[in-house]
Parts: sequence; C-alpha cells; structure tokens
Amino acid sequence: MSMVKERSGVQKIAPYQAARSLESVKREFGLDQIIKLAGNENRLGCSSRVAGILEEQKSQFSFYPDSNCTVLRERLSSIHNVEPDHLVFGNGSFELIALIAHAYLETGEEAVIPDPSFGWYRNVTLQMNGKPVMIPLKEFAIDTDEILRLISGQTKIIWICNPNNPTGTVLKEEQLRDFIKKVPDHILVVLDEAYIDFVEEPYFDTTELIKQHKNVILLRTFSKLYGLASFRIGYGIGDPELIEKINKVRSPLSVSFPAQKAAEVSLEDEDFKRLVLDNNRKSLDLYYSELKRLGLDYVRSNGNFILIRTGADGEAVEKAFLQNEIIIRNASEFGLDGWIRVSVGTFEENKKVIRVLESFTQERKRQEES
Ligand SMILES: *Cc1c(COP(=O)(O)O)cnc(C)c1O
Repeated sequence: MSMVKERSGVQKIAPYQAARSLESVKREFGLDQIIKLAGNENRLGCSSRVAGILEEQKSQFSFYPDSNCTVLRERLSSIHNVEPDHLVFGNGSFELIALIAHAYLETGEEAVIPDPSFGWYRNVTLQMNGKPVMIPLKEFAIDTDEILRLISGQTKIIWICNPNNPTGTVLKEEQLRDFIKKVPDHILVVLDEAYIDFVEEPYFDTTELIKQHKNVILLRTFSKLYGLASFRIGYGIGDPELIEKINKVRSPLSVSFPAQKAAEVSLEDEDFKRLVLDNNRKSLDLYYSELKRLGLDYVRSNGNFILIRTGADGEAVEKAFLQNEIIIRNASEFGLDGWIRVSVGTFEENKKVIRVLESFTQERKRQEES
C-alpha cells in the first residue's frame, strides 16, 4: 500500500468509468460496425472545411500553438459582440470547468449542483476539497427556487447546465434572469451552454447576462453543434476580471493549433450548422411521434439527445441495443432508473433506434402476458 496520501477530496472521487470502447463492444458481440449514440457527439461529422485547413496549415504543426488564440478570439469577439478580453479558451469545456473550480473554490466551500446534471461539476468540486450540494431536479428541470433557498454563507459556485444534460430541459428566459438577479454577487454562477444552439424555441442572447452581472460566466463548446469533439476546444465568456483569474490557472498551451484552425473555419460554415440543426429538429420530431405511438414516455429535448423512459432494467435495454450494434446511455448512472439517454443520430440511425425500442417493448409485453 502506498504511504503517499492524496488530497482528502480525491479520496471521495470514484474512479472514472470510461464509456465502453468501440473495440471491446465489437469483440464481445461479434459486430463489425457500431453506432455510438452515447456521448452526444455529432453524427453528421464536422464541416468539410476542417480537413482542408489542416492540410493547408500542416507546415505549422511543429510549432507551439498561439496561447492567446488571437484569430479565434477576434472572430468570437465580433460574433458575440463582446471585447476580446471577455473570452477564455480551454481544452474543451471540461478543462474550463476544472479551471473555474481551481481558481475559485476554497477548501470547505460549497458548490451547488442540480442533480442529475453533468457529472464533472461534482468531480471538480471534490478535487478542490469543496462540498457539493446536490439539488434534485423538479420535473426534469433545474429547480432555481430550491437553489436560492439552499444558498448558504459557504456557497461559492452554482453550476447551471442550460439546457441540462441529461434531461434536455431549458430554463425560461424570465426564470433565468430572475434567478441570476437574486443570487448574491459574491457567488459565481456558471452557465454551461454546451447545447444552447439546439434550444427548441428562439432563445434570448445570454451574453447580455455577463454584461449585467460580473459574477456570471458562460461556457460554450465546439464539441456538439460543430462536431469537433476530438479536437478539444471550448471557451468561456465573462467579465475580464473573472477571465483573468481563470487564465492564471490555465495551462498556457492547452488549446492546440489544429483545434484553433478547425474552430475558425467551422464558425464560418453556415451550411453545415443548418444541416445539423435541421437534422436535429427532424430527428426529435420523429422521436416524439414514434415514442407516442409506442406508448413510451420521454422528455422534450433542447439538446442533441433525448431521454426516454423504457420502464425496463437499464442494463437489459443497453444489451438489447448492443446486440443491434448501437451504444446508448443507461440513465441509471444519472439516478434515472428505467430511462435511457440516446444521442440524436442520422435520420436512418434514429429509425433503427426506434425499431429496437419497438421490438424490445413488444418482447417485454409478451413476456409479461405469458
Ligand atoms: C458535452 C458537454 C460539454 C462539452 O465538453 P467539451 O469538453 O467541450 O467537449 C460540456 N458540458 C456539458 C454539459 C456537456 O454535455
């Protein structure tokens, strides 16, 4: 046994459970191809301009990247209508979430986390020996009244995933504005907007919030709408004083040159964005009508995934999908027994998911009747 003792918070972190690798699933089930719908990745790939820019810029690959992300910073500053010093870049939002905790959370301070939501908020809180205060969702949505009620003298950060992963609910504009007004201004409110582009109804421009409130930071990612998950790039938008603190704990070269270039060209490809959003809308509509036909409950989604109630044991459902070459997420791991989370696929892939659900539920009915 090692005598070297880790930070006390690290003792409380369960070992990271990686999603099953495609390779291990293929071998176990003797399959040659697998459709992965477990990580909310973009099934339409990414902009075709990405391959071109990488080829064009390959002579730069032996140099360290621009730590400041100058070109991308300028583009996003004009897109969001904020000064360049309101932006911070990271190795995906994952890194930014950790950096926020590293820069702000003192030992023993509380971080308020809706539950279920993105699991990484709790992990980074424990890393800093902070105290996670988990607040159950109400009808699958973030319960802002309950959060306000549980703010204490120790509260330092409030994590709001909007739209929320894994439920897909989004806060109404009025509710969000009202909530932020009521949070004391020494508490940091992090709005993780990984799925903001997929919101069903037209949504307000949330960058207004950071102009009115110096304790709010928005997080955006290139992993979902833009399909650049493997490149690892995301950014935060907030008051320059917040941004400066996050930059202090950031590893200066965490955003690679290929990631910066891929992001720059992706921002300009309006056709690809439209294609992704159209496919998402049509796919969710297909799910809504087919799930209704099958008599299965679901939560209306503002993301690129959908939470579905099968009512069956999650592992059995997961296995039925694997036998049909599809990886989905058993929502038991989010505390939602009897539910699965399925990422939006291509239109054909979605139809296949529905066929699997249909035969699974029919088989289950037959078993119950006999
Ligand atoms: C997918 C996702 C992210 C994106 O993380 P990256 O590190 O940018 O890939 C962030 N937050 C939530 C809630 C997500 O679901």
